[in-house]
Amino acid sequence: MFKIVMNILDTAGVQSTNSFKDSGIKGTLILALVENIQETDDNIRLILSNIKNLDKIKYHICSDVKLINIIVGIQSCSSKHPCPYCETNNLENVDTFTEDRTLGSIRHSASAYKSAGSNKKVAQHYTNCINQPLLTGDDHERILDICAPPELHLLQGIVKHVYDNMYKNWPHVSLWLDKINVKPTNYHHGSFVGNDCLRMLKNVDILQQMAESHDKHIIQKYVHILRCFYDVVKSCFGMTLDPQYDTYINQFKYAYKDMDITITPKVHILLMHVPDFITKHNRSLGWYSEQTLESVHHDFKRNCWEKQGYKRSIGHPDYSQNLTKAAIVYSSKNIS
Ligand SMILES: [Zn+2]
Repeated sequence: MFKIVMNILDTAGVQSTNSFKDSGIKGTLILALVENIQETDDNIRLILSNIKNLDKIKYHICSDVKLINIIVGIQSCSSKHPCPYCETNNLENVDTFTEDRTLGSIRHSASAYKSAGSNKKVAQHYTNCINQPLLTGDDHERILDICAPPELHLLQGIVKHVYDNMYKNWPHVSLWLDKINVKPTNYHHGSFVGNDCLRMLKNVDILQQMAESHDKHIIQKYVHILRCFYDVVKSCFGMTLDPQYDTYINQFKYAYKDMDITITPKVHILLMHVPDFITKHNRSLGWYSEQTLESVHHDFKRNCWEKQGYKRSIGHPDYSQNLTKAAIVYSSKNIS
């Protein structure tokens, strides 16, 4: 089921007891719900455009980068200007900041792109802005101030990228996964699930021991980079912010630059935009985690849709009515 949910945050400061858990699925409202739908640009824009009055509340979009790009109106992460937060066309440069994307900059470029005939072959001349943002707000508002950097997908994407590069150099690394009980079958959308990523980061000592009896030199840098990344995760992912987070991100940056692996959009976002976001809000990324959606998905399906007898097959005369009812019952219970 494709869902859009709203998580209500107590800005007075409720702390989670588990630093890596999301802020809880209580307080979550289901705003939109569609079964059997592909996450295409057009479908997502159609659903989002029907959600009204967002401008009446203070909100953050908490979603993966793919969806953020669609919402703000730019092309995918494989385009020339892949970052939703800035106009960089060179991810490898992590020392110079590029112009921030704002609602106004995207609106302007998307209009120019349309006036020029909406030819995707030349979209890069318009910083890959191809649609008007689906967000209300003034032109000067920065995308970084509206769309939170997605903690879970940054964790998954960066661990997977480092692991894949390590595997290319040293296929024995798969034995490390066996030892720490991280199974390839746990791959989810082409990456490790969040808990497996954390297990890998927590068990770098075992990787180091294995590397010492195999090919220490090649793997040493990867061990170092995973340790640095774990320091970052402990300091500013989850619900508690370590004031040293900036130092840890910098140490990760230097460790990363010391390696001959590409800077992905997610690594770029961590290095170039996460410090800015955290400084502004003085909160760790867990407060804005997109993980809530994963919890809601299972909770709604099992405990409401199926268990409470609402479930009908698509096409059944009661389907639409029951789906709406289930969403209302679920949301009402969460905020009562
Ligand atoms: Zn950027």
